[in-house]
Amino acid sequence: MNEAERHTSEARDESASSSSTEREKGPQRDEPAGPRGPAGRGGPERPHGDRPRSSWTRVLLFVVVLWFLWMIVSQGARGTEITYAQFKGYLAAGVVKQASVTSDRITGLIEREAVPAGDERPARFEFQTVRVDDKALVEELAKANVDYRGVVENPLGGLFLLWILPLLFLPLLLIFLARSRGGAGGGPMGSPFGFGRSRARLVADKHTGVTFADVAGCEEAKADLEEVVEFLKNSERFVKLGAKIPKGVLLLGPPGTGKTLLARAVAGEAGVPFFSISGSEFVEMFVGVGAARVRDLFEQAKKTAPCIVFIDEIDAIGRARGVQIGAVNDEREQTLNQLLVELDGFEPNSGVILLAATNRPDVLDRALLRPGRFDRQVVLDAPDFEGRKAILAVHAKGKPLAPDVDFASIARGTPGFSGADLANALNEAALLASRRRGSEITHHDLEEAIEKIVAGPERQTRRLKTTERRRVAYHEAGHALVAHHSPNADPVHKISIVPRGRAALGYTMQLPVEEQYLMTRAELEDRMVVLLGGRAAEQLVLGDVSTGAADDLERATGIARQMVCVFGMGTSTGLMRCARDVDSQYLRGPGVRLERDCSEETARAIDGEVRAILDASFATALRILEAQREKLELVASTLLDRERLDREEFDALVGVRPSAS
Ligand code: ADP
Ligand code: MG
Ligand code: ZN
Repeated sequence: MNEAERHTSEARDESASSSSTEREKGPQRDEPAGPRGPAGRGGPERPHGDRPRSSWTRVLLFVVVLWFLWMIVSQGARGTEITYAQFKGYLAAGVVKQASVTSDRITGLIEREAVPAGDERPARFEFQTVRVDDKALVEELAKANVDYRGVVENPLGGLFLLWILPLLFLPLLLIFLARSRGGAGGGPMGSPFGFGRSRARLVADKHTGVTFADVAGCEEAKADLEEVVEFLKNSERFVKLGAKIPKGVLLLGPPGTGKTLLARAVAGEAGVPFFSISGSEFVEMFVGVGAARVRDLFEQAKKTAPCIVFIDEIDAIGRARGVQIGAVNDEREQTLNQLLVELDGFEPNSGVILLAATNRPDVLDRALLRPGRFDRQVVLDAPDFEGRKAILAVHAKGKPLAPDVDFASIARGTPGFSGADLANALNEAALLASRRRGSEITHHDLEEAIEKIVAGPERQTRRLKTTERRRVAYHEAGHALVAHHSPNADPVHKISIVPRGRAALGYTMQLPVEEQYLMTRAELEDRMVVLLGGRAAEQLVLGDVSTGAADDLERATGIARQMVCVFGMGTSTGLMRCARDVDSQYLRGPGVRLERDCSEETARAIDGEVRAILDASFATALRILEAQREKLELVASTLLDRERLDREEFDALVGVRPSAS
């Protein structure tokens, strides 16, 4: 459907009201590109075998010399450039001795006894000129008794100089470049291009500059890793006691929860070298390269022990083997096998500790998780209220905050936000503050920033037709009123009919009263009722419905389907689980993609039941709105007037929540 006509009335009207079973984090909030190490590829902190920078200068010199040579060659062959008029003059004077005529140039020799005054050219010189369309030329050449001939210009000659010669030097150039970045002589593979070299970046402790103090809100994970730090700092003590230290620690958690940050903090705390490489960097086009990189990485690490090897996004290589087919898969399998070999190969107390991070533990190959490999797992969850407060405090360091900033209230309003989201929110707030030329970040800036992250940036220039605006107002008022009158729904936090983001024309945001990790059936049902409240309001007031509810319908259907297929809340299927999650276990909630795992017959029964659940929810929403018809008009007209309502304004309009539970 066309973007413009998709009139999606809200993209994610409850994005802020999520819990662990109903996390509404679609894939659009994927992992933000975390800051890479301060040592970029080829930066000054490269491991070993780095060529000095001078090879770059050598290449440059080489190119310049080549260019000069070409200039000389191309100039030398031709001679002094003269104009065609001058050529005709010389011709008339009878001093042109030879001429070679091609289709576009004339070159030749001029020879005269005496140089006339005003001509600084020598008595005898070679000339060249551009040939113009001159019918009399041949006649005049013959008359002047010139030894002339026509030359078919060899097209390959120009081609050779212009294209083929540089092409011949291209491989040479490539080798120079590869040498200058890949280190001399290649890795253990001995490849001249250094393909086999692991591209791990060595970041010594002073460079990671991250400590546990920079990681907030995951105290348990930090405590788990404390032990690793202890070991790296004074391994003898452990060895003396005969204690075996885990070889590998796997950091698990949804995107943006600080896995990469925590790994860097471990290195920073322990003050040991830190080899960091991303799983995807192992997987290359050429089979065998990844395995060579793994070998090389561990070789380097063992030489540098005690140290940390960190493989970020290990799922890129650690996916269960033998699921897909194709060359890329072969390569990945080889890499994974090599990794397993290396993991088994080094002694438990060799001083090398392997850290790895992933947000897809479900796809990892079982063999990786076997004891003796990644035998320790540290789980990072989306931060809770206290955690969010702490993360905000960490990231507020160095930012001037107005006295009215209340982190507790911000933290309460951002359930489901990851550390990265919060860091992003603070940064957005700083940008907003600077845009309005303020000297401090105010509480309002922060709230605005969060709204922007949840629902997209405001689109003040998107002008809606009056009828459309009216429809959006009723739609949102419908959501809000239904939420207000559904005892198990989260209370309304904010309503807005300012267009935002790509498709949202308005949104209603609800906030849970407190953190929630489970959802009851009644809560799920009320959530669907609220989602259908927008559509119900449109039908009730305007008689006709619109495309604006498409997103609501998708989400409500998702909930209903999950209730039946996954949560065992259906009647026709009972407790049978009849669908599999396609996505990561961290992407629960209505956005989750389910894959059918039952017979055709059951699937048909499920469809019927989902349909019945949705119909019942819609009927409930309609009933609530019919009873609240005047309030619906009131809220909608106030919205049209003010564009947005916060919790207090809304409550003042509709009265205290009847059955606040
Ligand atoms: P992950 O690797 O888990 O996807 P990152 O470690 O890359 O997440 O986190 C991205 C950014 O988010 C970090 O650089 C940091 O600024 C911020 N961040 C995430 N979690 C935390 C946390 N617990 N404490 C402080 N900052 C955090
Ligand atoms: Mg990461
Ligand atoms: Zn809606």
